[in-house]
Amino acid sequence: MKKLFVIVMLLMTMGHLSAQQAKYVFYFIGDGMGLNHVNTTEMYLGEMEGRIGIKNLLFPSFTVASYANSHSASNSITDSAAGGTALATGTKTYNNAMGVDADKNPVESFAEKAKKAGKRVGITTSVSIDHATPGSQYAHEEHRSMYYEVASWLPKSNFDFFAGSGFLKTNKTYDGKDAPELFPIFEQAGYTLARGVNEYKAKRDGAKKMILMEKADADQGSLRYAIDRQPGDLTLAEITESAIDFLMKENAKKGFYLMIEGGKIDWASHANDAATMVKELEDMDNAVKVAYEFYKKHPKETLIVITADHETGGLSMGRSSGGYTLNLKALSYQKQSIDVLSRYITDLRKEGKTTWEDVKALLGEKMGFWKELQITWEQEKKLRDCFEETFTKNRAKFDENMYSRSEQLAAVAKEVMAEQAHLWWSSGSHTAAYVPVYAVGAGCQEFVGKMDNTEIIRKIAKVSGVKW
Ligand SMILES: [Zn+2]
Repeated sequence: MKKLFVIVMLLMTMGHLSAQQAKYVFYFIGDGMGLNHVNTTEMYLGEMEGRIGIKNLLFPSFTVASYANSHSASNSITDSAAGGTALATGTKTYNNAMGVDADKNPVESFAEKAKKAGKRVGITTSVSIDHATPGSQYAHEEHRSMYYEVASWLPKSNFDFFAGSGFLKTNKTYDGKDAPELFPIFEQAGYTLARGVNEYKAKRDGAKKMILMEKADADQGSLRYAIDRQPGDLTLAEITESAIDFLMKENAKKGFYLMIEGGKIDWASHANDAATMVKELEDMDNAVKVAYEFYKKHPKETLIVITADHETGGLSMGRSSGGYTLNLKALSYQKQSIDVLSRYITDLRKEGKTTWEDVKALLGEKMGFWKELQITWEQEKKLRDCFEETFTKNRAKFDENMYSRSEQLAAVAKEVMAEQAHLWWSSGSHTAAYVPVYAVGAGCQEFVGKMDNTEIIRKIAKVSGVKW
């Protein structure tokens, strides 16, 4: 009798354990997404409802909310390649290294282990598929800028699904030598190429493995910012839907691992463009919603983890000039990214004979200045001085940052917007600030407590039963 009791207990425990095993894993990486990026977005949404306080996005309200250190092996401040490598392989490395350790030896990623264990694997992003964060999941190169070499690892990975804007280099090596065009190589390796969601839908049935990209006439460097989105643009939510559809289409008996990067939270933060950042973060939350719908159908077998590779911009909520106040609602009057505003300004400058009144009208329409937002004398002087310098004296000046180059006047307008919102950016680069970690679903309790960034993927391996 006692023996029977023990056996029954054992079976019950095993049942419990297997119920906790994460057969389906979603791993969202918000590139550059610090705690204040999330907090700013939620407080902005609260203000938009006419009140003080936050309006919850979906993922920050998940069962577990914790945080992690992001430093690399070579510096307190990581870049996206070393950060991506830590998040993909559980190994710290030097800045710019992708999928190799500090001694430049390749390290196997969890994605590669999961594939070997029979899981289906998807790697997706809102930037190019050969970029630092996605590349760290499948490539092993000494430097992240070796785009052709990075993409050459794709067929070797044999992963089932890739998605993003496209590829940065498809026929030139890092040294600038001519090299065989990659797309035919992908096809020979059994990949079907689809440009846009409609083409994906048309080709999915006959496809064994898939690479989904933005349409051929679109920018292959990244998907368009959410704030600038045009009808028909590929979105991160659509990528997530397509990935789930594809990974599940052939009876994923052993489940899947799907990495989804919100890559342009980082880009907008390098540019210190808060309104654009907030929309990018909301946009990643929309992609998380798609994963969450899947979770609701398979709650006992699904794990969703969200984190970031590092913080970008040193974003502070508050500045001396604003006192004890925030005015995040101001961001809602910015109608496009600063990149696009810069193009409008270039057009005006090229037209010639542009007056200060013309510029005021543009900034009113696109940024809400002198309309919804009261512009102070100092702010107007700053804008006008820049106008005199760059228009009247026609000395075109550009403000450069990591991923964009904008007219000086657009850069000043962006500063004025930050002053209006009472936000402060301390850097145009990355910082060593903690990054958030959120989790829901099977095994999510593993993510309680402060972590090092290398622990996150190891915990994912543990709860998904993949041997490390
Ligand atoms: Zn960055």
